[in-house]
Amino acid sequence: MSKKDLSRRGFLKKLGVGAGAGLALSVAAPLDALAKRQNSGSYRDSGLRIGDEAGTNMTYRIQHRTKQKVSLLGFGMMRLPVDQEKVNELVDYAMANGVNYYDTAPVYLGGKSEGLTGTALKRYPREKYYVATKMSNIQPKHQTLDGAKEMYEKSFAELQVDYIDYYLLHSVGGGGMANLHKRFLDNNLLDFLMKEREAGRIRHLGFSYHGDVEVFDWLVEHNSIYKWDFVQIQMNYLDWRHASLSQRRNKDADAEYLYNKLEKYNIQAVIMEPLRGGALMNVPEEYQNKMKELRPDSSMAEWAFRWVGSYPNILTTLSGMNNMEHLKENIRTFSPLEVCNKEENELLAQVADGLSGIPTIPCTTCAYCMPCPFGVDIPNNFSFYNNAVHSGLLKSNDFTAEYNKAIEASARASQCVDCEECLPKCPQQIRIPNQMARIVELLKK
Ligand code: SF4
Ligand code: SF4
Repeated sequence: MSKKDLSRRGFLKKLGVGAGAGLALSVAAPLDALAKRQNSGSYRDSGLRIGDEAGTNMTYRIQHRTKQKVSLLGFGMMRLPVDQEKVNELVDYAMANGVNYYDTAPVYLGGKSEGLTGTALKRYPREKYYVATKMSNIQPKHQTLDGAKEMYEKSFAELQVDYIDYYLLHSVGGGGMANLHKRFLDNNLLDFLMKEREAGRIRHLGFSYHGDVEVFDWLVEHNSIYKWDFVQIQMNYLDWRHASLSQRRNKDADAEYLYNKLEKYNIQAVIMEPLRGGALMNVPEEYQNKMKELRPDSSMAEWAFRWVGSYPNILTTLSGMNNMEHLKENIRTFSPLEVCNKEENELLAQVADGLSGIPTIPCTTCAYCMPCPFGVDIPNNFSFYNNAVHSGLLKSNDFTAEYNKAIEASARASQCVDCEECLPKCPQQIRIPNQMARIVELLKK
């Protein structure tokens, strides 16, 4: 199909259906259950354990079945520098400060993350770290049992281990139940992975979820069969009650629903996107000022991490740290983690209500959607737009000029021809071409 054939097809009808459409403020419901636990002021009540044999003040949680002591700060290896020495330095600092959970996947960093992670961790005794990786069988060639087994065995080779501590079905939910059947059920792959857990090559089995909540519900409700050791969900103070508003799919569930359901089934949660792709580090000034009034020395990231870590059914909170400054700051936040009190929770609920009225795009800049065959730099367009919302640039007269400076002509939203090739690749289920059309319209104004 040529670019001309595709040009602007369906764009007009899509305009106005973007992330901002239909958003409304909602009233924060009471945080009773959490507040009760947190107001006790007791770490024990929140399931927290402080410190380890190395003398750090890191906060830990205990895995229910195996009693492993897992650091509440987990290291997401998705955005590492592609430089083994730098990765070793980051891992050394993390290990020395009590971080023992490392999360990677075959598809991270164009396939390089597992190798970098494995080489860095290999320098430590095997019992000192827990490594998590995933069955990322997105491509049809990995959706046969043999193809998937090849990917699975490659993870062992890349990580240089003979067992994997935490293994996940990667990003289930996109494509609904039909895709779950194709990737994991009809090919008997899930049965195979359960046998691998029995054999001890997988120590804990779980899944990471994005997308259609029917899939999440089905898997959790079949827990008596699958006996999930953990489930990875997106959770932060904005998505707690506003994920479905901002993610435009009526079947998306708020983090509150996901978390509570896991707690009901006694399945521990691993948290991804605690900063919502970085957006919560940069909330508008009016909210920052209110937060500073309560805690003058806390960064926006610290607020977001403390909010997540305060929930007791969380095993670990992943942060994709790619430089020493972020790593150090996060370690300070978790060493030890100070749970949020009632006043802080209420303020964050108000901030979330306020933010939900701002039409940001829930892009985490993971770049799974890339490359675009027509040259659009999807993550950079969305990140520029989100920053413009937060900084107020969007409403100023400089928006178009600044956009043109920041994004090369060949990579701009206007290059998007609505071919939809990127759509199935986005774990956030963002209607990418709709959003590109919306950006184009905003630029005209
Ligand atoms: S952004 Fe997505 S829909 Fe637009 S041209 Fe690129 S791949 Fe196609
Ligand atoms: S649009 Fe989706 S796939 Fe692309 S970078 Fe953003 S979150 Fe990732």
